[in-house]
Amino acid sequence: MTPATLSAALVDQVPAMQARATTLDAEELFPEQDFQMLRELGALRAPLPSAQGGQGAGTEPGGMDLIVRLLITLGWGNLAVGRLFEAHVNALKLIVAYGTPAQVGRVAAEVWDGHLFGLWVTDPAEHALQLSAGALRGSKGPCSGAGHVTRALVTMSTPAGSQMAVVAVDRTVAVEPKRGVLQGMRACINGVARFHDTPLADDALIGGPGDYLREPLLSTGAWRTSAVTLGGLDALVAATRDQLARRGHQDALLQQDRFGHMLIAQETARLWTTAAAQHAEASQAPAADQVAYVNLARIAVEAACLDAMRLAQRALGLAAFLRPNPVERLLRDLAVYLRQPAPDSVLTEAASHAFSA
Ligand SMILES: Cc1cc2nc3c(=O)[nH]c(=O)nc-3n(C[C@H](O)[C@H](O)[C@H](O)COP(=O)(O)OP(=O)(O)OC[C@H]3O[C@@H](n4cnc5c(N)ncnc54)[C@H](O)[C@@H]3O)c2cc1C
Repeated sequence: MTPATLSAALVDQVPAMQARATTLDAEELFPEQDFQMLRELGALRAPLPSAQGGQGAGTEPGGMDLIVRLLITLGWGNLAVGRLFEAHVNALKLIVAYGTPAQVGRVAAEVWDGHLFGLWVTDPAEHALQLSAGALRGSKGPCSGAGHVTRALVTMSTPAGSQMAVVAVDRTVAVEPKRGVLQGMRACINGVARFHDTPLADDALIGGPGDYLREPLLSTGAWRTSAVTLGGLDALVAATRDQLARRGHQDALLQQDRFGHMLIAQETARLWTTAAAQHAEASQAPAADQVAYVNLARIAVEAACLDAMRLAQRALGLAAFLRPNPVERLLRDLAVYLRQPAPDSVLTEAASHAFSA
């Protein structure tokens, strides 16, 4: 499939994804059908470099437009699906950036076999994952796709520093989905992965110590989360417009005022996201400039979404809080998904960078 055909095919899937999203959220079910659809369309292998039969979506400058479109479209269809897909892309991007050709080839073959990758880098408060004497001990969490992703790129502490490794999520890893605790993004199936003397396969370590924390990739990848979020915002704006129109409020001045500001927030998020993608994926600018720009974009998109969420609640009133109104789920999913790491330092470091320029 060409990038244009793949994007168009995915757009065609959005109504079905949105229809499934209500049940997946209510019953906290992993979006199996959505990922089967993505597998069949070839979207899961689109992030692979062209040399591996992919389309470089997110891994090569030429694949930038495609990954922007895929992430926004998936967020529009179902934020949880978008988030899981984004983790798959993030893991593949890091493996392509830091792995050896043999490792990239092996991972590409697994993606062609249909494996979905997770990116498990957050450590729980206790028992952070460690590697010693060739075995993994400790936990990772929260882990999206718990019990469903079949490969994960994990970070662990080693005597030499923090390292990444690809692990097969099989019987050697105890994965516990934590249902009933998250307000939104419930179809992500977050959980904890516990490793009990799990042997690390030969040649599983990706890159060297400290590579995961290396800039610009550590920070610039945040634009992908913003893109998925923007898709969710698109869905919120569309649903609010439809519901206001159904009530006959399209000519009410104050509703127009609120909806106009939602459109401004939506376009603000779109402009920042697409420019951030350009800075992260196809720019020759110094790494510090790329990082600062994407950091500002992350906060701008967060602010735009929070603004639009407040306006949707005010415009629709109680209906925005009643299930199964899709707006109710979108507000919960967006509220949770917007909680990304360290927002204060992201903003203050970008401001500080502007002073030092
Ligand atoms: C739906 C969902 C799925 C996820 N899936 C995964 C996954 O698959 N894999 C994974 O690894 N992680 C996952 N995560 C976790 C995610 O990567 C982040 O770790 C998490 O979202 C961080 O959110 P937080 O609000 O706790 O951030 P924090 O960074 O804890 O921020 C909370 C607040 O504290 C402030 N703050 C932070 N540090 C300091 C400090 N030192 N001093 C003072 N203030 C500070 C921040 O600015 C912010 O205001 C997921 C999260 C979500 C929401």
